[in-house]
Amino acid sequence: MQTSMTKREFLKFCGTSFCLLSAPYLLGFPKASEAQKAKKGLIKTKLSPYFTSLEGGEILCELCPRRCRVSKGKRGFCRVRENREGKYYSLVYGNPCAVHLDPIEKKPFFHLLPGTTSFSLATAGCNFQCKFCQNWEISQASPEDVYSYEFPPESVVTKAKEAGARSIAYTYVEPTIYYEYMMDIGLLAKRAGLLNVCHSNGYINPIPLRNLCKVLDAANIDLKGFTETFYRELCDGELSPVLETLKTLKKEKVHLEITNLVVPTKNDDVSALQEMCLWVKRELGADTPIHFSRFYPLYKLKSLPPTPVSTLDKTRAVALSAGLEYVYIGNIPGHEAENTFCSKCKKMIIQRTGYMIGEIHLKAGKCAYCGKPLPGIWA
Ligand code: SF4
Repeated sequence: MQTSMTKREFLKFCGTSFCLLSAPYLLGFPKASEAQKAKKGLIKTKLSPYFTSLEGGEILCELCPRRCRVSKGKRGFCRVRENREGKYYSLVYGNPCAVHLDPIEKKPFFHLLPGTTSFSLATAGCNFQCKFCQNWEISQASPEDVYSYEFPPESVVTKAKEAGARSIAYTYVEPTIYYEYMMDIGLLAKRAGLLNVCHSNGYINPIPLRNLCKVLDAANIDLKGFTETFYRELCDGELSPVLETLKTLKKEKVHLEITNLVVPTKNDDVSALQEMCLWVKRELGADTPIHFSRFYPLYKLKSLPPTPVSTLDKTRAVALSAGLEYVYIGNIPGHEAENTFCSKCKKMIIQRTGYMIGEIHLKAGKCAYCGKPLPGIWA
């Protein structure tokens, strides 16, 4: 078992597994000839379905819990929504700046069509400002700051099918901020037999979320910490709306996985982690897969060390003793906690190394050894 890896080794590993997200975001798709069509400042607009007009031409954005109040000619916190003459517009409709064909394991989804690819995209912008963001070059950018493609929803679905993807992933930044684009792709993708999956911070208001659930098959939600202080100080966000989102997704029967990036000294307190795991078990179920990921010093937290492997092992032990059944460790390729073990007979039923799949011992979504159903989407 490989238990430690330098940052250089980690990035090299990611690069060979299609995961390195760095400018100009073209390692996967489109190919070079198509990439040359990317333009800076290419901005399309679409009227937002979620805003209220206020006096004096101001608007109140109702899409996420930040509820930005925006004057004429100004933009909201996420930088990609603008008040034009008292109406609120998305500026990134049909203009992704990152498009890749990724392994589904990279999202990460470990209980969803293992070994398949997911056509993954993002626009500029985000409604959080995480100090440890891995994709800050696009998440903390305005649409004019990045190269974007003209890529309407119909073309996204066509290209995803051509590429052999089984799903479309809304990922890399918070997809809520390109909600209109995601919804329109999602409707077409569903009709074309593709799954819609997202990796999200869960910071979205209940009404748009419930509407999104009509097209969404699976969500991996970052539960970044379990205190309001952590969310306020490290993400400029709030914890409680994220917990509501998790409960709504569960209620709406969207397949759910959780990711927690374990940041040394910031959210690695054992009692907070235990409280979080008990909450997940109580509110979402013991069979909710949870991924504890290794932090690497990036963006504004360069002074911290990578998460020690021993911390992740301890965190996993806490989660298992709290009663969670599918507990994974991420960003340490070769760690045995990348594999899926049956919660009943304890045999390994899906073998992984990084994003590579090895043996699978599943029969129609059940453990091939003891017949216990494994939660997830398998066909
Ligand atoms: S979606 Fe953007 S503009 Fe709307 S409330 Fe959230 S951060 Fe503000």
